[in-house]
Amino acid sequence: MIRLYKSNNIPATLNGQTVQNEKNKLNSMVANSTNPCPNDFKSNLYGAKDVRKQLENDQHGKCIFCESLCKGEVEHYRPKAAVIQNKGGLIQSPAYYKLGYDWNNLTLCCHDCNNKKGNYFPLQNSNDRFDLSKEIPLIINPYNEDPVNHLEFKQHVIFPKMDENGNEDPKGKHTIDYIDLNRNDLKERRRRAFNAFNINRKRQNLSYDEMLKQEKQDAINDGRKPESIEFWGMYENQKYKF
Ligand SMILES: [Zn+2]
Repeated sequence: MIRLYKSNNIPATLNGQTVQNEKNKLNSMVANSTNPCPNDFKSNLYGAKDVRKQLENDQHGKCIFCESLCKGEVEHYRPKAAVIQNKGGLIQSPAYYKLGYDWNNLTLCCHDCNNKKGNYFPLQNSNDRFDLSKEIPLIINPYNEDPVNHLEFKQHVIFPKMDENGNEDPKGKHTIDYIDLNRNDLKERRRRAFNAFNINRKRQNLSYDEMLKQEKQDAINDGRKPESIEFWGMYENQKYKF
């Protein structure tokens, strides 16, 4: 996971009248005590071409959480229709329906990460739910904060950061658990990528940081951003640089 920056240009579809009509529809449903279900949110609007294109650009063509290069799905950071505080917890509905078409709530997410996240959105204090000025989410949003403060890699495996007393960072821990960032297939792909990086590095007799610098330069020479390299966070936020 790497720090991301969302474009200030809100895609035109989200500011259009069609979206406004949908928002009004959702508001009156909730006002009439009807819970909007997932189908009441139009994926052809929140996931419209211009939205997807801007997100692909802002996320360098990668999943927001696992950094797999993927086409991904346009998804919601805060769940739109139903929300669950923790595993085995109760389903709360309506959820963040007001953010169903909110640019700041939209992300590009691979199918597997999205599937794992589902309706989970754990908060540090569940009593703060729906008060956005108070909520402290326990799933990292790399558009709002630097994942480096919560996560680190030991080779291809991701861990929560530890504080000086040996306590795991709660945001890091929850993010790994709820998105399942050490799932087998993902871990295997990272292992292969990290091995290839190191084999390449040793062959050229470079230090870890020299190799990283070279990778960055190679990307730039190709006309790409270094952040577009798959699993870039693993190389940059690596504890075992040997
Ligand atoms: Zn993913």
